[in-house]
Amino acid sequence: MHVSKRLEAIASLVSQGSRIADIGSDHCVVPILLVEQKKVTYAEAVENKKGPYMKMCHEIAAHGLEGVIHPVFADGIESLSKEVDTVILAGMGGRLIVSILEKHPERLRGVSSLVLDPHGDLPYVRSFLAENGFFERASLFFYDEGIAYDVMKWERNDDKAVYSELEINFGPTNLKHPPKDWLLYWEKQRQYHETMMAKNLPEEKRKEHQKAIDQIEKAIAIAKANYSL
Ligand code: SAM
Repeated sequence: MHVSKRLEAIASLVSQGSRIADIGSDHCVVPILLVEQKKVTYAEAVENKKGPYMKMCHEIAAHGLEGVIHPVFADGIESLSKEVDTVILAGMGGRLIVSILEKHPERLRGVSSLVLDPHGDLPYVRSFLAENGFFERASLFFYDEGIAYDVMKWERNDDKAVYSELEINFGPTNLKHPPKDWLLYWEKQRQYHETMMAKNLPEEKRKEHQKAIDQIEKAIAIAKANYSL
């Protein structure tokens, strides 16, 4: 079984002894890896489309894990088992992840940990989580085959987590402990906005790029100050 750096990172954020559900499991690599690593005591893999569901069942059988990983044909967390304390949502757009989480708040009540790999709209995901009683426990920012990923783990909070605009936009953990790839990524983004500023753009657009540059510079300065502590 090929395990990419991204899937390895997702599995690494799951705590020992967790009871997981991998929503949108498709190839089922993460549940299989976690069961083989003896890291989880319960696992279900959820799909809402026939093709990926069949593939998932095939992978479970091919690894001799029938009866160990429970395949579920359902929409998101609609029929999440009460056994589950950790939900994994990976390889999906940020807005889809939020729509899955907010659709069944009653199912989320027993869940203490979320391991997420949103592809896009990360500030939207972070705002939703902070407003719904979660705080960021950890995140891993890295390049895998030239693509940047920010894999994050959020846990239930007793008090409401309050994050600044910069923390929502760039990630609280990234600002506190900036990974090299994160600095590289945002430096590239800054350069992109600088390039756009050099073009003959309408004033409105120029303002947007300048605002982005200001925010990125602020975030990099804070992160670098923390880096050298
Ligand atoms: N999680 C794997 C990964 O990170 O490599 C597979 C990601 S794949 C791009 C996204 C999967 O999510 C697809 O197989 C799709 O069918 C599934 N999916 C999308 N919306 C879903 C939903 N509401 N409920 C369950 N599965 C869903």
